[in-house]
Formats: sequence, structure tokens, C-alpha cells
Amino acid sequence: MSWIRSYESIRDFDFETEVAVVGFGGAGGCAALEARRAGRSVMLFERSSGAGGSTALSACEMYLGGNGGTALQKALGIEDTSENFRAYLDACFGNNCDPDRVSMFVDGAAQHFDWMEALGIRYNRSLFSGRDVVAMTGDSLQFSGNERVNWFAKRSKPVPRAHLAADADHNGGQVVMAAVIRNVEEAGVDIRYDARATALIQDAHGAVRGLVVRMDNRDYTVRTSHGVILCAGGFIMNELMTRQHIPHLEGISTRHGNPGDMGDGILMGVAAGGQAINMGQAFFGIATYPPADLTYGILVNGNGQRFVAEDSYIARIGDAALKQPDGEIYMFIDNRHFDRPHYVQGIEIVAVGETVAEVEAEAGFTEGTLQHTVEFYNTHAAEGRDPLFDKAANWLEPFDTAPFALVSYRLADIKQTAFTLGGLDVLPTGEVVTPNERAPIPGLYAAGRTVAGIPRTGAGYASGMSVADVTFFGRAAGRQAAAAKPNNALPAGADAAEG
Ligand SMILES: Cc1cc2nc3c(=O)[nH]c(=O)nc-3n(C[C@H](O)[C@H](O)[C@H](O)COP(=O)(O)OP(=O)(O)OC[C@H]3O[C@@H](n4cnc5c(N)ncnc54)[C@H](O)[C@@H]3O)c2cc1C
Repeated sequence: MSWIRSYESIRDFDFETEVAVVGFGGAGGCAALEARRAGRSVMLFERSSGAGGSTALSACEMYLGGNGGTALQKALGIEDTSENFRAYLDACFGNNCDPDRVSMFVDGAAQHFDWMEALGIRYNRSLFSGRDVVAMTGDSLQFSGNERVNWFAKRSKPVPRAHLAADADHNGGQVVMAAVIRNVEEAGVDIRYDARATALIQDAHGAVRGLVVRMDNRDYTVRTSHGVILCAGGFIMNELMTRQHIPHLEGISTRHGNPGDMGDGILMGVAAGGQAINMGQAFFGIATYPPADLTYGILVNGNGQRFVAEDSYIARIGDAALKQPDGEIYMFIDNRHFDRPHYVQGIEIVAVGETVAEVEAEAGFTEGTLQHTVEFYNTHAAEGRDPLFDKAANWLEPFDTAPFALVSYRLADIKQTAFTLGGLDVLPTGEVVTPNERAPIPGLYAAGRTVAGIPRTGAGYASGMSVADVTFFGRAAGRQAAAAKPNNALPAGADAAEG
């Protein structure tokens, strides 16, 4: 399949538009809306029969803050400076970031909340301060990542930043996308469903001048004067790409993403001269909680050794779990704190015993391994310390109530959501850039999981970082394309062979 068609080879175009957007998820919807509000004609192509993408599948928590705080944070008396927000993101991703992108985000994220709310999405002015992946309490603000994990809390003051649409529970994505769709339709964007973009149209000078779209079993050509914005999601459902870039997820039942996550946008962007970066990184979570009480348990590998602070966010736990031999992951817990995890169905209790030694023997662990781990943990937990992983003191209690149990979280057994965090290298404005010089490719923009955005590792990820990134930078790409000089202002010769 060729992802590029030559501009000069096309005599007549089926459609003319100023801006074309590929993909109607969170990024594409926001990009189309901003471009349209800036006065451009916009065509939006979606390969599925309806809008939403992964964004609609998600809980649509949005990780926002900085600049003093969002309206919701402020209403609850929570101050969130840009410096503190940035310090947290630095702790999450270190040098694996585009500093300009981070600056734009921490300075603009609070106002982005106002923009989203103005679409008609309702947010309750209330905080859930417990430990959960998605608050099921009707509260619209929560801690959703590693903010209160000691390693992070020592680097940035913990602030709740995950914004959740009111009363949406797990269906926040549908609530948010319903508002996005309504606004996009009302703005007069020309939306085409069952319309898969199959190629970019590029001229001899490298400028992107349109795209080819497959509709009704026929290829249509679309000419754009201001730009094409690729918002086609990530590539978790593309077997070849995942095998090539994230082989450590091979064999794990992770493919619960949106069927459209086939990497089309990334492949088109690379074919046009862009560069894909950060392709080896993905979100893969092991939801050991809720209920929060399970945080008192310890996670061990097949050698009976701990490997992570158990009060970490699910993706940090998942990232550490993937590094353990043979995907052997277990939770050891006592009767006082035992419960069944809400998100992992059908967990297997591998061993139960009146003593740790009994559990160890029944599970087939090498004698002494689990006993040593539990003894060491208990000794320090009694003092409120975790010298190995610095789990926060409020989650440290010695295991003292028999029976004890070992529960399986073997990677081969659990079905968890995954999505990719690598994609096209773009400027914060959404301009797709070339390798090395990072020169913008005229007429080509991208946003959402088609690009390498703010969240770049599972270990640093927090719930809400992806949707915040895709909607915030989708808007930026829409504005940038709308403001671009039209293609007919490109260097002479660009149109020489136009029919
Ligand atoms: C179950 C689940 C829960 C999640 N929960 C959260 C959460 O609470 N908070 C959070 O931040 N993140 C969450 N995520 C991740 C987040 O939802 C996604 O990373 C994000 O929504 C991606 O947005 P997007 O606009 O880039 O892509 P999408 O929303 O997937 O949109 C891309 C669209 O492009 C279309 N498309 C693809 N190829 C083409 C083509 N060639 N032509 C035309 N159209 C095309 C697709 O069909 C799709 O509709 C979750 C993910 C899942 C799967």
C-alpha cells in the first residue's frame, strides 16, 4: 500500500476544502472545531461509521492544571502553579519530552478546561481524595497518577489534576465526545463517515496538498489549500507495528483498543517525510486496585521478590511488571486486607496458608524466598518505612492476620487496556517535522496519539494525560492549519504540472 500519491499526477479533484482532518476522535474533533471557528472550510474524514475513537471508549479523565489552577481546582481552593505542574511532568518523563510542548501545555491547560466546559460538558465542583483509577463517586476531580507516591511527592507537591465529567462514571468518553460532536456539527464541519484516508497527496516540492479517501468502495481525491491534520489515533491494533516496536507486549492480551488504531496516521506522516519517535513506549496498566485496601498487599515476582512501590499508579505497576521474568506477577496479602480487584476479573488464588511458609510451599516458590521478603517488609512496615521502594507510610502495615494468600496477576492471564505513546515528531503547533532539521513539512499537521505527545512512558503516565494532550494539541493543530498561508503561496513551480 502506498501512502503517498503525487499531486502532479491528479487532473481533477473530487473535493476542495481549506482544511482536511483525518479521524474523528478527541484530537480530530477539537482540531476540526478550531479550524472551523477560525473561518476555514473543514472536511473531517472518519473510517468508522460513527465518531468517537478511543476517546469515546475512555473514561475521558483529563489531566489539567497549572497557571494557578483550573476553574475546578480553584473552586475547591486547590492552587496549582505552572512550576509545580511542570515539576511533576519532569518527574514523570524526565528528558523524554519536548520542553516547548510541556511549556505550552502547563501554561494553557487551565484555560483548556474552560474551553472544554464551554462545549457543554458539566463538571461537579467536588474532590475525590481516595485511591481509585476513576472516581465512581460523582466527584469531578481526583488524584489519578503517582502524585502521592513518595518518589514523586519529593519532587513536586501532590495536586489532584484528573478532571472527570459529572456523573459519567466510566462513560466519560461518551459524555465528552457527545459534546464535541454536537459542537463540530453545529459549527458546519463537513463530516464523512465510513471514509478511510488511504494516502496523502504531496507535490514535487514536498508540500502536502490533500489526501485520498476511500468511500463507497471508491477512491476520492481531496485538495486542501491550508492543510491536512492527521488525528488517526495510535497503532495498538496493528499487529505488525506492535511486534516491531513494542515486542515486550507480544503475547499479552492487551488489544482492547479502538479497532481504528491501525497506525494509518503515523504511516502516512512518515511516508510524507516525517519521523516517528518514542515508538517503543505504551500504556499498559495492571489494575491491582480498586479497592484501595489492596494497596496494603505486596507485589512479588516468581522469585518472591518485590519490584515496585505498590501505591503506584496502574501503568507504573504495569511497566515494572513487564520487566519481571516470565511475566510471573503475584500479590501477597493477609486476610485483614484481602479483597477482589474490581478491574481484573477471574483472578486466581494460587495459594492460601496459615503461615507464609505454607503459602510459599503451595505456590511452589523456592524455599525461603517469599518468607524473607515478607519478614523484611513486616519489620520495616512496623516502623512506617519501606527502605526498598519507599511506599508511603499510610499504606504500610505488617501482615499479621492469617490466613495469608497469594493472588495471580500473571501477565498471560490478565486482559488490560493498552495504547501506544509513540508517533510522529511534531512541533507544539502540530506541524509535522522532518528528521534531524525538524523542518515543518508544508501542509501537514498531526495531533493525538498519532504523535509523540506529553505522555511518553507508561512508568510516568497518569490517567487523563492522553485525553488532555489530544484535545489540547488537537486544538493547536487546528488553529495552526487555519492560520497557514494557502498552498498557492508556496514557491513557484509547485503548481507547474497542475492539470
Ligand atoms: C478503554 C480505554 C480507556 C481509556 N481511558 C483514558 C482516560 O480516562 N483518560 C485518558 O487520558 N486516556 C484514556 N485512554 C487513552 C485515550 O482514550 C486515547 O489515547 C485518546 O483518546 C486518543 O485520542 P485520539 O484522538 O488520538 O484517537 P482516537 O480517539 O482513537 O481517534 C482516532 C480516530 O481516527 C480514526 N481513524 C483511524 N485511521 C483512520 C483513517 N485512515 N481514516 C479516517 N479515520 C481514521 C479512528 O477510527 C478513530 O475514530 C483510554 C483508552 C482506552 C482504550
